[in-house]
Amino acid sequence: MLSLESFFSKFFKKKNLTGQTAMINLILFGPPGSGKGTQAAQLVEKYNLLHISTGDLFRSEIGNKTALGIEAKSYMDKGALVPDEVTINMLKKKVKENPDVKGYIFDGFPRTIPQAEALDTMLMADGQAITSLVTLNVDDEEIVARLLNRAKTSGRSDDANEGVIRNRLSVYKETTAVVARHYDKKDKTHTINGVGTIDEVFGRLTEVIDRALVAV
Ligand code: AMP
Repeated sequence: MLSLESFFSKFFKKKNLTGQTAMINLILFGPPGSGKGTQAAQLVEKYNLLHISTGDLFRSEIGNKTALGIEAKSYMDKGALVPDEVTINMLKKKVKENPDVKGYIFDGFPRTIPQAEALDTMLMADGQAITSLVTLNVDDEEIVARLLNRAKTSGRSDDANEGVIRNRLSVYKETTAVVARHYDKKDKTHTINGVGTIDEVFGRLTEVIDRALVAV
């Protein structure tokens, strides 16, 4: 068994086609309430990556009462997606502000094919790519129960209304799920069972991520 340290030094010695060190770029995928944010917080520590949640970025803009936040809120309150251009520009800004990282965990992004294409293009410009997309699989009724429960502490109005939650689930199925197929074509996708304790789900996630990293 390799220690984590020697595993990383082995991994980071790998260079990509342009001679740059390969980053670890993970997409944590799955419907709202599937546990992406919770798991990302732990994955960040294990793999030393930067967690970028577009939902969190929008909520921060809303908190700061910026024009971007005010625009985003009108979509978020309905459970609709914020337009691609706004979302992609915000994401790019966050990535540009953090160039010296070992890689990123994208959470809640990309949610559309144009977002995925913009992400691929941005990474490719630096000789990088998505390493792996992992979907947390959780069924609809469990999601609705989880989000209504989360609303008690999250203060998120989009968690408190069952109609809005069901709309977010429809958007996921109709618009977002195809993003996994986009990376499927590149043989980069994995699906795990997202139901269980935080540690159980984390164990399943790290198993597939570690396998994907060895295969890089
Ligand atoms: P989340 O915190 O990921 O559940 O996102 C909350 C809300 O923010 C979503 O329902 C959307 O309205 C908006 N949002 C977050 N990420 C994106 C994205 N990548 N594209 C469009 N809208 C997004």
